Amino acid sequence: MNIKTVVQDAMLIAGLVVSASALNGTSAWAADAAQNGTMIAAKTTSAAATPRILVLATGGTISGTADPRSAIGYNSGNVLGQDLVRGVPGIEKLANISAEQISNVGSQDMSDKIWFQLAHRIREAFDRNEADGVVITHGTDTVEETAFFLHNVLRSDKPVVLVGSMRPGGATSADGPGNLYEAVEVAASPKSQGRGVLVVMNDQIHGPRWITKTNTTAVQAFASPNAGAIGYVDPASVRFVTPPPQSARNVLGLPTSDQLPRVEIVYAHSNMDGRQIDHAISDGAKGIVLAGEGDGDASKEALAALDRAAKNGIIVVRSTRVMSGFVNRNVEVDDDRRGFVVSLDMNPQKARLFTQLLIANGVTDLGKIQQAFSDTW
Ligand code: GLU
Repeated sequence: MNIKTVVQDAMLIAGLVVSASALNGTSAWAADAAQNGTMIAAKTTSAAATPRILVLATGGTISGTADPRSAIGYNSGNVLGQDLVRGVPGIEKLANISAEQISNVGSQDMSDKIWFQLAHRIREAFDRNEADGVVITHGTDTVEETAFFLHNVLRSDKPVVLVGSMRPGGATSADGPGNLYEAVEVAASPKSQGRGVLVVMNDQIHGPRWITKTNTTAVQAFASPNAGAIGYVDPASVRFVTPPPQSARNVLGLPTSDQLPRVEIVYAHSNMDGRQIDHAISDGAKGIVLAGEGDGDASKEALAALDRAAKNGIIVVRSTRVMSGFVNRNVEVDDDRRGFVVSLDMNPQKARLFTQLLIANGVTDLGKIQQAFSDTW
């Protein structure tokens, strides 16, 4: 049975009607989803006071169904967003929930295109006052990047919460339903307003700058090594342990093209020469992020290649392959002389997308780029 058949069967079982085009590709899904959002829960009589939460499904293990212990894996994204929501007992008491399918991919296939679709749909939903909060179901591999992207391009104070699961739906002790319940709880809570985009996993609430996946398979896979969780959630309560941010968030414009500029990550290692970097230069990269050793260092040859990149007008950002700590300016490497930027506590994958967004917004002055790395929270 292929995915489409499984999806179609699931929809038939659920009594839903779906157009053929909705099963034939991401853009059709998104377009159809925007029109065909299915209202799932409206069980309360005090409708005015009940938060409206829009669930945007993108795929991932949270919507996967195969044998959890299978060595050959499973197809993420077998279950549609509305069916995910229907499968969570009691969730209808938290909010009036509608669900739309934006994509159905494992998050290793997350793309600029899907990011832009998410950003546009969320802006539209908030601008038209269709929702009080948004929950995005997402694969866990790259959820930190999608969260950080959206955080940087969405201005609204309304909560946007990303959630995934480490075990698919059929697993013993599947974590998806509990995580989704808690994500809706957080998105529906007034306490979550004005905090930007959040990620909820395993009873914890994390900020998008700091969260990262720290384990390949464990349910407790997510942590924010430099900051810690900013809050906790259980079926009865949402608690933040940090006060709401005092300063206004700097938000970047959503570029007109849904293809962000090419920025490569180069991973440093012992015995490193400069060839990967030279290749990135000749391949037309607009930026290079070094996943450096220690506090963002690399061999003399690699640094010389990064000098060549900087001289060619390529933005060079030093980050680190180490899980925690900061990459500070002019420590071991003379950034001022070489014309490099440091990522501070931003890991390479987030430094990459942040650099892409800055370049796409016309921010290419090194001082301004460095300032932007400091200022975003
Ligand atoms: N690689 C898949 C993804 O990120 C499965 C991992 C997961 O969702 O937990 O979507």
